[in-house]
Formats: sequence, C-alpha cells, structure tokens
Amino acid sequence: MVCVRAVHKVFGHGHDAVHVLKGVDLDVARGEVTVILGPSGSGKSTLLRCINELEEITGGSVMVGGDLMGYRKDAKGTLHRLHPKAVAKQRSRIGMVFQRFHLFPHMTALENIMEAPVQVRGMSKKAAKQRALELIERVGLSDRMEHYPAQLSGGQQQRVAIARALAMDPELMLFDEPTSALDPELVGEVLSVMQDLAKSGMTMIVVTHEIGFAREVADHVVFMDDGVIVESGPPSAVLDDPKEDRTKDFLSHVL
Ligand code: ATP
Ligand code: MG
Repeated sequence: MVCVRAVHKVFGHGHDAVHVLKGVDLDVARGEVTVILGPSGSGKSTLLRCINELEEITGGSVMVGGDLMGYRKDAKGTLHRLHPKAVAKQRSRIGMVFQRFHLFPHMTALENIMEAPVQVRGMSKKAAKQRALELIERVGLSDRMEHYPAQLSGGQQQRVAIARALAMDPELMLFDEPTSALDPELVGEVLSVMQDLAKSGMTMIVVTHEIGFAREVADHVVFMDDGVIVESGPPSAVLDDPKEDRTKDFLSHVL
C-alpha cells in the first residue's frame, strides 16, 4: 500500500543545506498500522510530509496504493513532475491529522467535516451532511455537532479533525503526534477513536510517543534517528527486545 524507497530530503542549498532524510525505506501493507518512534528532530514529521507530498522529496520514490507520488513515468522510464492538480488529486486520497487541530474556527463541527467533500469533490451538501453525520457519530460527538471549535475540548477538536479527514474517504491516514498537544485526561478518547479506525481496517502511519498504543494497535513499530530507520519490527520485538543501542537508549527515556 505504501512503499517508500531510498527517500532523501534536503532542505535549503549549499552551506545552508540540511540533510533531514538520509535514505528511508518503509513498507506498509494495506490495513496495517505502523507506529513511528524517534527523538525530536529525527525526521518523523518530514517523512510523513514527504509521503503525502506536503514536501517534495530530494531523492528516492514514494508509492501509495500503486501510484508513484508526484511523478509520472513515460515509455522510456523518464520521470516527469505531475501537474499540481494531479498532485492535489493524489493527496486527497491521504488523510492527515496533526498535533494541532487546524479546524476552521468559523464553522461548526459538522460544517468542518462537510467542507472538503463539498468544495473539493463537488459532493452535494445533502450527501455531505449525511456522511458527516455518520462520521461524527463514529467519533462519538453527535451531541456536539453544532458546536464551534472554540466550544470544544482539545480531545473533541481532534476527534472532529479525524472525522474531517475521513470524510474524503482516504485509503491511508497519517497521524503526526495527534495527542501530544492534549491534556493527559483527553489523550485516551482520541487514541480510542484511532484504535477503532485501525480495527475497521484503515491503513495508518502514526507518529506518537504513546508506547501503550504502539504495543496494542501497531502491526509494526519503526524507530527513526537522525534521518534513517534504525530498527523496525513487530511491537514486541522493537519495544521489548530492541537490538540497536540507539533504540534501547530512546526507550529507556520514554518507557
Ligand atoms: P519532533 O519529534 O520534534 O516533531 P521530528 O522527528 O518530527 O521531530 P522533523 O520535524 O521532521 O523532526 O525535523 C527534522 C529536522 O529537519 C530538524 O532538524 C528540523 O529543523 C529540520 N527541518 C524540518 N523542516 C524544515 C524546513 N522546512 N526547513 C529546514 N529544516 C527543516
Ligand atoms: Mg514532528
């Protein structure tokens, strides 16, 4: 489903160049959940942003659902950058949830969820509302659907953000530390929505420091440091029996 090959990302040029991703390979099968762990600055967010083309990669390739992201290959095998509209279409199949919720402040929870299907997909308001009602129920917020973001707790806002991403029927969901900005008592409700989503068969890549979630929900855990994947495997292997010193050191600080 997701196939990341030898991906490099360099920000800036010349003396100011920062080499952030240094040859990342990552595979995520359809319906699987991969959790990415790693210290601050190791490149986790950059990797997610490269997968959904918020950043253009410097080298390597990213495939999602069989599509080469951002490029088209001609008969001779030469790569051509896709038109921004084609890139936008590819991106619309990937949902992303950030640490900060980024909801539209002047729209109710329901309107936030309806917005992209209506504006981007041209769905009728009636159909979008029907779908939004289902999604808001799925994240347990039917009784808050007319509330504006400012009237919702952080955990509720994040659940609306998840429902909003799901409204575009993504085939892949990316989460970048979705609970790090939340008060501790609100973390559980968001993780539980994510766990349900995983159970429903969604393919997910989740950057998080929630080791309990990784242990329970992840099919694979990946440890990143300094722009490379240092170690990966099933949660029991990486979390309980890490092979690499850098993984051991990191875990000793977060566990
Ligand atoms: P954190 O756990 O703090 O979120 P991270 O693993 O997500 O860290 P990234 O945000 O991917 O790390 O950043 C990795 C490195 O890339 C950092 O050194 C950062 O300063 C650098 N970086 C990220 N975005 C840019 C940018 N737009 N321009 C220059 N450098 C950048
Ligand atoms: Mg980050």
